[in-house]
Amino acid sequence: MKDIAIILFASSGFDKAAQGLTGAARRLADEAGAKLRAIVVGATETVAEVARIADTVVVAGQPEMADYQPELCLNALTQICREISPAAVLLSNDTYSQEIAPRLAHRLAGSAVGDGIEIRMQGDTVRVVRQVYGGKAQAVLEMKRSPAVVWLRARAFAPAPARAAAGEIAGAVLDLKPDQRTRIVERKREETGEARLEDARVIVAGGRGVGSRDAFAAELQPLAEILGAQMAASRAACDAGWAPATWQVGQTGKKVAPDLYVAIGISGASQHMAGISEAKNVAAINTDAEAPIFKHCRFGIVGDYRKILPLVRQKLAAVAK
Ligand code: FAD
Repeated sequence: MKDIAIILFASSGFDKAAQGLTGAARRLADEAGAKLRAIVVGATETVAEVARIADTVVVAGQPEMADYQPELCLNALTQICREISPAAVLLSNDTYSQEIAPRLAHRLAGSAVGDGIEIRMQGDTVRVVRQVYGGKAQAVLEMKRSPAVVWLRARAFAPAPARAAAGEIAGAVLDLKPDQRTRIVERKREETGEARLEDARVIVAGGRGVGSRDAFAAELQPLAEILGAQMAASRAACDAGWAPATWQVGQTGKKVAPDLYVAIGISGASQHMAGISEAKNVAAINTDAEAPIFKHCRFGIVGDYRKILPLVRQKLAAVAK
């Protein structure tokens, strides 16, 4: 059986997503009787943490790899994967991985799929489960060409326990040529709070019903602060310019899996719900009792959020005292 590879970006640390990815890959490798081979881009303490779970760790720690550059990174990963020749290459649901996965599959003459929530081997073939129709159904995809390059909704997977003996760590030998075709002109750091939205335990999200950018800051932000929550938004709110695009949750936004998702002035369109299907509890405030969001809610309040939020904040502040 060919081995299973995972690709981790050291700059993200060994966060929940990296742990979920490593856990999913470890179980897949064990089921298949294969080795788990981790590839870490950049050299940090992440390497030692991964080595407690993987059989081998190849580190692309060259100075050129310290800051993500798509073409260089793709070239490096292609070289390493050709060397390992795995049955499957698994990545997480960060933007680098989503960008790299289909291109890497093309270079390796394999097949690619994104947003997997389950992965298993069927003989020598990789099968991936992903949600379709905004989370209303699931599709099982058989990856016809090897290797299967798959990015997973990593926080949906349980981590793997550390093993007694650490895996072998080696530096990647790479032939890196300067990229002739693209040049990084500027880097802008994503506006995030303490944690990545994908890793947040509590999320306060606003939609078109919030009404304005100012209301996001004046009404929703204080609630997020009391709850220690990350802020998010529907596409309608992002498109209106009330929230940054990086806050968008949904089919074309981020897939989140918090313990609590508070949806304020969000109708619950299937494209939005596709991003929160892994949320453990959904709470909503909406003026429309018929809004679809209430079908997915554990807690719901029908009414104008501008009247309800001050009362909720007051109660929460009293509980916190
Ligand atoms: P609306 O649907 O307009 O809902 C606003 C809600 O606010 C209503 O239910 C209303 O009753 C309520 N409301 C109004 N005033 C108040 C008040 N004072 N207090 C409380 N409630 C109030 N959407 C996403 O979110 N994420 C995606 O990734 C995404 N991807 C898409 C991809 C495709 C291909 C397409 C076609 C669409 C996508 N959409 C996505 C858009 C999606 O279909 C919806 O249009 C969008 O989610 C609606 O956002 P909303 O719920 O904020 O707005």
